[in-house]
Formats: sequence, C-alpha cells, structure tokens
Amino acid sequence: MRRIRVFDTTLRDGEQSPGVALNAQEKLEIALQLARLNVDVIEAGFPIASPGDAEGVKLVADNVKGRAVCALARAKDKDIDIAWECLKNAEHPIIHTFIATSDIHLRHKLRLSREEALEQAVWAVKRAKKYVADVEFSAEDATRSDWEYLSRVYAAVIEAGATIINVPDTVGYITPFEMQELIKYLLENTRGIEKVVLSVHCHNDLGLATANSLAAVLAGAGQVECTINGIGERAGNAALEEIAMSLYVRRDFFQAETNLNFQEIYRTSRLVSQRTGMLVQPNKAIVGQNAFAHESGIHQDGVLKEKLTYEIMDARLIGREDRVLVLGKHSGRHAFAKKIEELGYKLSEEELNQAFQRFKQLADQKKDITEDDLKAIVSEEVAKPEEIYHLDFVHVCCGNNILPTATVRLVKDGKEVLEGVATGVGPVDAAYKAISKMLGISSNLVNYTLQSITGGTEALGEVIVRILDGDEEYIGRGSSQDVVVASVIAYLSAINRMAQRKRKLNPQKDYGES
Ligand SMILES: [Zn+2]
Repeated sequence: MRRIRVFDTTLRDGEQSPGVALNAQEKLEIALQLARLNVDVIEAGFPIASPGDAEGVKLVADNVKGRAVCALARAKDKDIDIAWECLKNAEHPIIHTFIATSDIHLRHKLRLSREEALEQAVWAVKRAKKYVADVEFSAEDATRSDWEYLSRVYAAVIEAGATIINVPDTVGYITPFEMQELIKYLLENTRGIEKVVLSVHCHNDLGLATANSLAAVLAGAGQVECTINGIGERAGNAALEEIAMSLYVRRDFFQAETNLNFQEIYRTSRLVSQRTGMLVQPNKAIVGQNAFAHESGIHQDGVLKEKLTYEIMDARLIGREDRVLVLGKHSGRHAFAKKIEELGYKLSEEELNQAFQRFKQLADQKKDITEDDLKAIVSEEVAKPEEIYHLDFVHVCCGNNILPTATVRLVKDGKEVLEGVATGVGPVDAAYKAISKMLGISSNLVNYTLQSITGGTEALGEVIVRILDGDEEYIGRGSSQDVVVASVIAYLSAINRMAQRKRKLNPQKDYGES
C-alpha cells in the first residue's frame, strides 16, 4: 500500500470561505483537533494577510507538536520572512510559497513574462530554504498552465531546494481524466521529481474536487490538500473526509492509505462547523446528518437483515456512535468528568464546573442525554468568550394576536445591571432589539442559523449568529432547549467578542456606554 500524505488547509483556504473569520484561539482549538485526527500537515494561515492571521499561525506553531505546521507566502521577501517569524517555534515548519504560472494570470494579474515568473519562483524557494528544510512550492492555476512550461518551473524550483511540489486546480476547472494525464506527464517529464513529494490541491467549482484528488492519487501523487467539510473559497476545497473514506472503502482499488485516525472525523467536522458557522448540508457525504440514514422501507428492511446490503461503511468507524444514553440525571461529577475525557476534551477545573452545571440543568429537563448533547455543552463552554455582558434573564411574551415583547436584563462586568424592553416581529427579534437598544448598538446581524442537535421536541437547539461591526465580523453561538434563550446567548456571545476586542483596542472608551 502506498502512503498518501494528508495536508489539511482548513485553517488557511477553509478560513478564506466567505463570512468565516476565526480568531487565534479558535484556530488553535481546531489545530489541536486536526492533530488528534492525525493529519500530516496543518496549514495554519497566510501570515502576511493580516496581523490576526499571523498571530494564529504563531499560536499553532508554538503549541501543536508532532505535526508539520505550514504557513503560506507569496513569492515575495516580506511574505516569506514573516512566515518564518511565525513558524520559528514549530517542531516541523514548512514554508509554502507560490506564484501563478498560467498565461491568464501572468498576463492580467502579475504582468510578468513566463521567464520572469520562473525566476521569481526560484528566488522565493531559495529564500524560504534559508529558513526551513521543507519548502512547498505551488504553481497557482497550474491546471490552466502550459504543461511544458509548468514542468520546467517545477524542475527549476526542485533544483532550488523545494521538497514538495503542489499542483493546484485553483479555479476548479480540470476533470479527473485530465488530472490523471497531467500528473502522469509531470512525473514522466520533470527533472528531479522522484526526489520530492508531488501534491494536488483541488477546488470544487464543478463538484469534482474529490474526484480530481483521487485521480491524482491514482496517477502517482503522494499528497492531497483538503479541508474539513470541504469548506473554502467559493464552492470550497476537496473534503478531507471524502478523500479519506474513498481511499479506505475502496482500498482494493486504490492500493493507497492515509495515516488518519478515522474515529476523529465526525468530531472534527462538528467542531469546524461550529467554529466557522458553516453548517454541513444534511446530504453531505460521510458527515452530513443523513449520510447514514435509511428512509426507504426496502433499504431499512435490508439493513436490518444485513448492514452490508445498503451500507458500504460503518458509521462508528468515523466516530458517529449510535445515539445511546450516556449519562442521566443521577450521574455525578466524577462520571461526567470521565465521560468528557473519553470524548477527547481537556477542560480546566472551572470549565468543567460550568459544563457540569449546564449538564445538570439539561438532565433535569431532558431524560436522555446523548453524546451529541455533551459535545454541544462542552464545546460551547470551551469557546466561550470572556463575559463582559452576562445574561441575567430574558422574558418574552409572544403568540398569535399579540405584539411580541421582550424584557432582557444583563449584568455588566459582574456588577452593573442593565435592563431593556422592546417589541419586534417575533420573540427573537424583540429580544435582539432590547439588547441592541440598551447597549446603544445598531442592529447588525448578518446571519442567523438555528438547528436541532438531536431529534425530538425537547432537543437542544443550537444557534449560530454573525454580527458585523464596521469591517469586523464576530461569531456567537448558543445552545439551549429554548430556542429564544439559545438565540439570546448566541447574540450576546458575539457582542461579548466585539466588546472585548474594542476594549483591547481602546481601553479608555468603554463600549456600549454611548
Ligand atoms: Zn485553494
């Protein structure tokens, strides 16, 4: 079996999804989970893009051990230098530099000749090589580049010291048949290519990202670049879970394997969805809510008699356990702590106490507490922003033939009590207006999603909101059995993030005291 390297770019390309903005702490949390999933390389960001991006890469490089950590840099000195600054403490740093090679990009974007671009690529790889042993080079828009020229560029950067050669299908244009031909061509015609790792990076504009990645593997590529849930620019990147399970389920055909810990796939998918606010479509392969649900009577009958009739893989393999009762009302703190640890979370004493309290509240109202419930409680606790505004109570009055009205009381910094009342078109609108009014902020909600974590009317509802303040977006999430309460918690958590940031930037002028 050939071993295929998995290069995860959730924190870089995935983070470039429209509307997604992760802070450094969230990036670290996801990176630690990617390490548990056992990916080979974590691309943590594009440091030159913003100070926040640089901070995220540095935090990941400083704290994630046992995995290669990679940072992206254009073929420019500043980009490469700052990438190295951020990667300094990584156990295994990789600088990933790139320049476009297609005539379309050279002519219209870079205004460089082919020879100039080639020279710049070589120069950039040499500069990166001064800092790190492992340098990855990407020819942006490789799949729309002239093959002969592309192969010359790769040969030149290999000679300059590149150890990983990446072939990005930047605009999601190629088909699997052509991809196979291209990879074969490069392997046969590029001087020195046998010494390096040949990688592919596919986008999903035509829904072919996974197929193209697999075609490349079949033709001899040794690394695939992908993201969790397939998030990324436009239609996204190749989905890690799809490539991984295709290689595994059809290992008879591909004769290739990854080093991934499949048990962590589902948990990683949930975490990325929660932190980015990008929901997974129900019919998404492998990780969608319905991916293992059988609706047709004939299928159900078959599966009950023998799973193999309609199931090509076991849901438990990727960590999607049957929703069994795990804990109940009478479970103690010790049992709770043990279960949390089993689920792979490491909580501080205080986080554990908070999570246990929420568990107790939920157990009082809901008979069966499932693992999904626990994950929701814990991940909310772990990601909770420092509270400036704490929800004391929310009271809404709503129904048909009545004007929805909300009363909200907040406690600021643990002492000052704020109260507000407002009406709205519904209970959530009324509550949000009450909060905006009392804090003196304009209603700036750009996105609101609500989904049920488990089945049944007493299930936990999870709300994710995004608010906009100037150019900055803030995500907030909240879960509760009461969707109005979940909505208010989510809104407040976004506001707390915003207020915290403002306080950091300008400690004198306090936010919300206009
Ligand atoms: Zn990309």
